[in-house]
Amino acid sequence: MDLTTANPQKNAITLERFEEHLHKAIDKPTTNFRMRRVGPSRQGRRIEVKVHNGAHRATWAKTTINSRLRAISINVFLNFKQNNLRQADYSKLKALAMVGIKQYWSNTITVDGVRFNVIVNALHKSSSDAIPVDLKIEDSPDYARSMNPAILGIDASFVYQKGTLRASEKLINNDFKLVSAHEFGHSVLMYVDGISLSWGHKGSTNALFQNIKASTPGYPTSGKIDLMKYYDEIKNKADFSRRVTDSIAMEVDIKRLIWSSEITWKN
Ligand SMILES: [Zn+2]
Repeated sequence: MDLTTANPQKNAITLERFEEHLHKAIDKPTTNFRMRRVGPSRQGRRIEVKVHNGAHRATWAKTTINSRLRAISINVFLNFKQNNLRQADYSKLKALAMVGIKQYWSNTITVDGVRFNVIVNALHKSSSDAIPVDLKIEDSPDYARSMNPAILGIDASFVYQKGTLRASEKLINNDFKLVSAHEFGHSVLMYVDGISLSWGHKGSTNALFQNIKASTPGYPTSGKIDLMKYYDEIKNKADFSRRVTDSIAMEVDIKRLIWSSEITWKN
């Protein structure tokens, strides 16, 4: 089908409808209203516009929605800090983190019955508008914990587990991509609903120590694995290769990312 000649009225979705359904899907109720004049400035009639506190104000994400092509492109900005890394290592880790975020955060979402293809692009930006990330290499065989408290003044740490015994470089790279995508997601969850959602991994861990709860299920035996949840490995384990292929940002979390970011709407 040639999309440029497709009937634009068929299943047309407006920004207003998109917003209404998006906000409902992530349980962010309308908080208040303001009046806005529509049409020519003087004669225009006044309409009530819904205002949602906090929505679309994150400085580190920008969304462009092409309603006709059902395509959503989201740029997310991270300030990857070199610290004491050699240039080659810095370039490599930065590239892997960006690939990982794109791989695990790009998906499809349905809003108001319309399916959209979502591509998330991670970009480096050395500015306070971006999410600050310290890139680190762990040379010892101990697995060092990556983290992103997503609190003002504390950088995220994405740790490359170079010293992991017997692991191939490919496996270490895959681990780093997955970890980077997960840690980025903490900025989204924190922005939308704060500590309990973010540090609590959507209810799967205790928020403070981030250990799993008694009620947390094991990994799903098949199908997709929620990138942002912890699972109880004693109840059901998933091997690393399956976690690499089946983990994905869930639709609700992609909607949370869009809710956080500024939206440009194209018809
Ligand atoms: Zn986490």
